[in-house]
Amino acid sequence: MAKKIQAIRGMNDLLPDASPRWQYLEEKVRTLLDRYGYSEIRMPVLEQTALFKRSIGEVTDIVEKEMYTFEDRNGDSLTLRPEGTAGCVRAAEEHGLLFNQQQRLWYQGPMFRHERPQKGRYRQFHQIGVETFGLTGPDIDAELILLSARLWKELGILDHLTLELNTLGSSEARAQYRTALTTFLEQHRQDLDEDSQRRLTTNPLRILDSKDARTQEILEAAPRFEEHLDEESRQHFAGLCQLLDAAGIQYTLNPRLVRGLDYYGKTVFEWTTRALGSQGTVCAGGRYDGLVDQLGGRATPAVGFAMGIERLVLLLETLEAFPAELDQRLDAYLTAFGEEAQGYALLLAERLRSEQPELRIQTHCGGGNFKKQIKKADQSGARLALLLGEDEMSRGVASIKFLREDKEQIEVPVSELALTIKEHLQSH
Ligand code: ATP
Ligand code: MG
Repeated sequence: MAKKIQAIRGMNDLLPDASPRWQYLEEKVRTLLDRYGYSEIRMPVLEQTALFKRSIGEVTDIVEKEMYTFEDRNGDSLTLRPEGTAGCVRAAEEHGLLFNQQQRLWYQGPMFRHERPQKGRYRQFHQIGVETFGLTGPDIDAELILLSARLWKELGILDHLTLELNTLGSSEARAQYRTALTTFLEQHRQDLDEDSQRRLTTNPLRILDSKDARTQEILEAAPRFEEHLDEESRQHFAGLCQLLDAAGIQYTLNPRLVRGLDYYGKTVFEWTTRALGSQGTVCAGGRYDGLVDQLGGRATPAVGFAMGIERLVLLLETLEAFPAELDQRLDAYLTAFGEEAQGYALLLAERLRSEQPELRIQTHCGGGNFKKQIKKADQSGARLALLLGEDEMSRGVASIKFLREDKEQIEVPVSELALTIKEHLQSH
């Protein structure tokens, strides 16, 4: 036998047992976004490498270490998208959706980062992202947070999530602070963790985010961004906090929250949980007013966020927050005995589907004796087995066997079958 080829490490198959949980979550998000008036946009998973270098930033972890970049047959450098914002901005600009307009957009799909695979961290993972354009005020920042809070509430996980909030100010304020922070940290260079030492010259703000205990200790005495925050950003942030307070949204101010991508300014936020261990951020975003201009468009205010589907599914599983009915995939399993009845069963199933379109019916295929077919019906998870033999066929009836209750089998005329099934399902 030939050697089997396996999936790429960190890239998962979603198996049929698990897909209902993904569908449940995706459907919840989709309908919620629809209720808030957001429109879906779909972008390619491949973009020119330059797009990510220019947006995410040359000296970020993503661009330095994590991108799947290759030359295609024409020698062009292409990259599998590591996140959705850059592609969304590219698409919106390319199709004239930005200038003098307001947009509320969302997308979903796979993202690719060459990270060390572990629980909650994969090389192909999935995000649902939300991006808004053309809106300057803190009201839209608040809307995005309210929308996400409502989603957690509807999923039954709000109590397990904490909202962390920070402002990164204007690019001038950040530049000033970068200098102050670097000057301070230079004096402690040898005590910083290795990553932070490297970042001192490349991306010092990211040091605030270091998980190293010693580095965090040193940071206690570091200059605070507060002292450099520009007035406009201060007011924007105060406005946001006020709106969240009025809406009863709880949050924690986290001055160390900086995010891993260069394009953020002013508001940044993350929803985190303790229930998943160290991969606890399930949703993260912020304002990126400079990005459209940086990518060659006319300056356009923008704010958005992305949530990680794998982590949300894990969280919902951990908290047992998925509804039990998700495992119930079929209402009825139609068995048929004898060659003629088997052919007729397919037609009968079609009739039932026409009469009661919401019924979920599977027809047994491949023949076999009574015992085998009933076993299949049971394994299918269906509530009911429908039995059809040549005798039933000639009399225009079918039998209903109740697979999940202690109840006598009944015989029903075919003309009343669909309604009888539906009524039975509704009464339980
Ligand atoms: P982290 O700090 O966990 O590395 P990040 O800041 O790199 O996250 P973002 O780029 O902001 O993450 O992506 C938004 C969300 O996408 C994250 O909050 C997380 O839920 C999810 N996510 C990011 N990277 C991965 C990954 N490699 N595998 C699974 N989910 C991920
Ligand atoms: Mg990351």
